[in-house]
Amino acid sequence: MKILVINAGSSSIKYQLFEMPAEKVVAKGLLEKIGEETSKLTCSCNGKEFKTEVKAKDHAAGILLILDSLASGETAVIKNVSEITAVGHRVVHGGEEFTDSVAINDKVIASIEKFADLAPLHNPPNLTGIRAAQKSLPDVLQVACFDTAFHTTIPKVAYIYALPYDIYEKFRVRRYGFHGTSHKYVAQRAAALMGKKFDQANLITCHLGNGCSMTAVRAGKSIDTSMGLTPLEGLVMGTRSGDFDPAILFYLAEKGYTVEALNNMCNKQSGLLGISGVSNDMRNMRKQADAGNVRAKLAFDIFCYRIKKYIGAYTAVLGGLDAIVFTGGIGENAPDVRQQCCGDLAQIGVNIDPAANAKTNRIEGLITSADSRVKVYVIPTNEELAIAQDTFALAK
Ligand code: ADP
Repeated sequence: MKILVINAGSSSIKYQLFEMPAEKVVAKGLLEKIGEETSKLTCSCNGKEFKTEVKAKDHAAGILLILDSLASGETAVIKNVSEITAVGHRVVHGGEEFTDSVAINDKVIASIEKFADLAPLHNPPNLTGIRAAQKSLPDVLQVACFDTAFHTTIPKVAYIYALPYDIYEKFRVRRYGFHGTSHKYVAQRAAALMGKKFDQANLITCHLGNGCSMTAVRAGKSIDTSMGLTPLEGLVMGTRSGDFDPAILFYLAEKGYTVEALNNMCNKQSGLLGISGVSNDMRNMRKQADAGNVRAKLAFDIFCYRIKKYIGAYTAVLGGLDAIVFTGGIGENAPDVRQQCCGDLAQIGVNIDPAANAKTNRIEGLITSADSRVKVYVIPTNEELAIAQDTFALAK
């Protein structure tokens, strides 16, 4: 059975075509610069990478181009698009409503539209992708997989903010959490690597990419996570601040900053970029730090310090920790980050094996020594596969 996975952003569409249940990626690619004069389609299939300049005036045209590339020319991997049994879509915000992936119907679409209010940068393009796929493949099952779904098990004590309660009742202002598909995927892999049933595993998962978040998983369920109403809360990220005193915003507003400027500052000019002043990209920033840039080194240290603080907090709330998992571009590739976050956590039972840590990059592996009570794993995330698995399950 062929399952197409789509992740639609504001001007791009990422896709992967899977053969299920074999979990084999038949083709994958990225269409960029949708709506511009020329768009760029990159496709990996048949053992090669193909790059072409195309014209995609909107997402609907983009989906048609992708389907066309899957079924014709040298990028062809299927004879006809009718071979596609179902399409799985990444959707960022599912509010309190969606606790799992669902088959898309008009009611689901209306809800995704409603939650666009909470994720204005993500839900609208996700929805555009869904509508475009429905138009091109009208008789095919479309499935929505939500970044928030895994976190719907978080108890009230962890999701209610200490604001007047009617702010929650009126506006549904609460912690939702994100990266749920990734946290769940790596948590399940970690349980499997430990030979434990998922519903018996207690874990802390760290998704460290451009966006960063951590989740406390007790008995296979998310019980707390660092992102909140929006992806701004929690860890230090590429350009987002993570936690800080909200009174800073009132203080700056009185100094003349507009709401828009503050929003932009916290989401786009803070984090690694804001502290270092050189880059939002961990690799570049690390280079600068190694070359003696003091603020780049400070950004690195603050990044790791925040993670360590959350490890402490989540160890306390979990009441028993089996493993910590690192994933995402930074988590999978930066042994120095993992070392600095976990290198001196012997008091909670973590003993990093420096040699294993140094060599476990972009691959799955254990980076603690044999005597470490708490295991630490590097597990490359695979959100597309997780979406394909959910879509396959519903298609069956
Ligand atoms: P996204 O959240 O956009 O999916 P990724 O998960 O790809 O992003 O993570 C991007 C981050 O991973 C960037 O900060 C990048 O510098 C970092 N990264 C990638 N490779 C390395 C590496 N070898 N060492 C350190 N950081 C890395």
